[in-house]
Amino acid sequence: MLERRELFPHVIEMNYQVKRRLGCCVYLIHNRDEWMLIDIGYDDTVDGIIDTVRQLDFPLAKCKYLVVTHADVDHIQGLKRAKELLPGAITVGHPQAAEALEAGDRILTYAEIPAQGISIELPKIKLEQTITEGSKLTLGDLEISVWHTPGHTEGQLAFRMGKLLFSGDNIFRDGCVGNIDAHHGSDISEFIKSLERIRDSDVEWLLPSHGPPFRNNRALLQSTIDRLDKYQHMADFGTCAVDWPLLDEWEAELSQPFHAGKA
Ligand SMILES: [Zn+2]
Repeated sequence: MLERRELFPHVIEMNYQVKRRLGCCVYLIHNRDEWMLIDIGYDDTVDGIIDTVRQLDFPLAKCKYLVVTHADVDHIQGLKRAKELLPGAITVGHPQAAEALEAGDRILTYAEIPAQGISIELPKIKLEQTITEGSKLTLGDLEISVWHTPGHTEGQLAFRMGKLLFSGDNIFRDGCVGNIDAHHGSDISEFIKSLERIRDSDVEWLLPSHGPPFRNNRALLQSTIDRLDKYQHMADFGTCAVDWPLLDEWEAELSQPFHAGKA
């Protein structure tokens, strides 16, 4: 049996458990004899992760949920394999993630980025239960509340357990956020609302889907919100912007002749 390396009571993260980078964060939450996983990562790490879980002395038959934070391929490619190894677990995620996974939507999940030559396998899977804002997941008397936090993608979820928030791709320790991309259903104003909600909550720790856990820090959240607010009025993220003031300035200037020397 392996020694359990808990980050917080009831919480193990598999990259920390094996002391090397496997991919996205894979959180194991346990209470009494039940446990669940938040995200599973790429297909090629699933068997190793489940083997580690077995060596940590968690009975495979007692896995209650396989949770999807959102449908990006780096978070869910291994879900089908995980369900084969853990047939008693219920696969759960937001309805938009469920739709993308059932349809095998290769664009929305980033399985296919033709302009960059990225094309990877995306096993289709039908989620057994959908969850959204206000849903609860329970492990014995431990309750995990579901937050719907759209922005990175419409189906992004976060999960609150006491003072912890499993925060998905909302924000990382360096203030970066999950990719903003029109083809991915990103919405900057929704993103800002999700970040404001995290900022204003009494959650103490954020456990993101990439990188280390960090304290819920008002200054960090605010500087990220301010950056995203600027993006709403810049060309950097194309159709994700709400406006681009330069075009209005230009329109006003067009009535005047352009003088190279005056600029
Ligand atoms: Zn991600």
